[in-house]
Order: sequence, then structure tokens, then C-alpha cells
Amino acid sequence: MLVVDDEAVNRELLEEDLSDRGFRVECASDGPSALAKARAYNFNVIVLDISMPGMDGFEVCRQLKRDPATAVVPVLFLTAHKSEEIAIRALDAGGNDFVEKPYTPAILTARLRSQVAIHRAHEQLLRLATRDELTGLLNRRAGTSLLRDQIARAMEDTRHECSILMVDVDHFKNINDLEGHAVGDRALAALAESLTASVGSLGEVVRWGGEEFLIVLPRAELSDALLVADRVCASVRAIEFGSLSLSVSVGASSLRSLGREDAHRDTFDAVLASADRALYRAKAEGRDRVVKCTIAPPAEVG
Ligand code: GH3
Ligand code: MG
Ligand code: MG
Repeated sequence: MLVVDDEAVNRELLEEDLSDRGFRVECASDGPSALAKARAYNFNVIVLDISMPGMDGFEVCRQLKRDPATAVVPVLFLTAHKSEEIAIRALDAGGNDFVEKPYTPAILTARLRSQVAIHRAHEQLLRLATRDELTGLLNRRAGTSLLRDQIARAMEDTRHECSILMVDVDHFKNINDLEGHAVGDRALAALAESLTASVGSLGEVVRWGGEEFLIVLPRAELSDALLVADRVCASVRAIEFGSLSLSVSVGASSLRSLGREDAHRDTFDAVLASADRALYRAKAEGRDRVVKCTIAPPAEVG
């Protein structure tokens, strides 16, 4: 947990009381350093003082709740102010609970534990809603919203491109048929790991469907995406999985390489469709390869 208080004696007292009761306590003495720490660590709960020089607790809380990286961390306000108005402002700022000073350590601990339990349940639900069970990758719902966000961002700022790779495992049905479904499942998990390693911090890997993966590469030009795709193919070939050899076919596309035939469509659908067409060609041309989308030639006149 994080304790935020501008007065050293308060921080020390809280740290002592709460570590005695099993919390691991980190401290911050002002708003900006609290925000920085909250972004850097995944705290289970934050205890926040209200009156602090510079940025007060209300503002710290508002900023925490505005940032998706910290919004779900519960904030418990701890303050000597005894007024209804302050309590209401604390909750309005996004605070999850409010305890007055001087506090009773046992009660503060119980309130904190209850916030931690809610936070854990929230994180678990979030994981269930956004992650694929077998591979741990983003699921299709989360991948869809990620891609929509990245496309919107790239449309707002022409300096940013957004590329995608549609990856489909070659002849995967054979693995199930010859080795059984359980081996097929393990192969998918190994593939997911390999894709994640190949993509690194350049993007996100999504389990799009059964043995189909979508790789979203925000900011990547199509030429960079093709380099990633080659790396993906090579590392899948190198997977050691019993006597099986694995390969994938990849269709690559990007926002700014869409052709005129896509102009009338929703951009999200158009990017996916163009990667799908490229993937289909990769399959038709013999699999285990990367094909990039091509812009259809203009219709002949005359
Ligand atoms: P292609 O090279 O044309 O892509 O051939 P393929 O066999 O990979 O394609 P097809 O679409 O015919 O078969 C995909 C197979 O993937 C069929 C399905 O049973 C299997 N599959 C999909 N999801 C899972 C899963 O979660 N676990 C296992 N074991 N198999 C899965
Ligand atoms: Mg396949
Ligand atoms: Mg498939």
C-alpha cells in the first residue's frame, strides 16, 4: 500500500501501525511523487492525506482516477478535518472511503482490508473479461477495443501509423487429429508465448479466434510490421514441440495502406479485411510466409 502525507511523523506512525498489521507500506510526502509511485507500482490501496502544500489530496485523487493505469486502485482519505462537506468532497473526488484522524488502528486496518478485497475482486473480473483462458493473451473483446483506440489515435495524428498482423497457424487441424486436442491446446499456449516474445514492447498479441492471432502494432509503419512478421514466422518455426513442426501464415496491413476499395467501409473493418485478404493469399501461396496487403489497381476504363 501507499501512504501519502506531507508530515513525516504521520507517515512514520501510519507505517508502523500498518506494517504491524501485515501491510507492506511505501510512503510519499507530496502529490506529484505519490502520482509517480502509484504509476510505477501496482498498489492494492492508497491512504491519502487531504491538506498538503502544492497539490492537495482531492487533486491527487482526481488525477489517480483519471489515469487508466491507477484508476482502479482504491483511495482511502485520512484527515483531521471533521466536516460533512470535506467527506463529501473526498468521495466526489473519487475517493473510496474516508477515515477521520485520530484513527483507531484496528478500524483503519479493517477498512483498508475491505478496500483491498474489493480491489482484488475487481482485478480478477477484469482479467476474466479481457484475457483468454488458455493462452493468457488479450481476448477478442479486449483486442477489438485496443485496435479501435489505436486506429482513432492514428487518425487524429497523421504522424502515427497503426499496423496489424493477422496470424493463422498452418494445418493446425492435423495436430488435433494426429496428437489429440490436449496437445493442440499446449501447442497454442507455446505459440502464444512465442508470438509475445517476438512482438515484445512493439505491440499487443490478441487471441482473435481458435488458432488465429491478431497482432496490433501501434505506431508501426507497414515496413516495420513486416519485419516483426518475419520474426514471428522464424520464431514459430524454431518452437520445439515434440516431433511437431509448427508454422504460421501472416497477413499484414496498416491504416495508411488501405486502398480505395476500402474507402466506403468503417476503418476498423477495412484494416481487418485487408489483413485477412493478405492472409488468404499467404495460405494460397504455400503457407509459412508473410504477405502484405496490396492496393487493388484502379478499375479499367473503357
Ligand atoms: P490452414 O493452414 O488452412 O489454416 O489449416 P488449419 O487446419 O489450421 O485450419 P482449420 O480452420 O481447418 O482448422 C483450425 C483448427 O483449429 C480446427 C480447430 O479444431 C482447431 N482449434 C481451434 N481452437 C482450438 C483450441 O482452443 N484448442 C485446440 N486444440 N484446437 C483448436
Ligand atoms: Mg489455420
Ligand atoms: Mg484459422
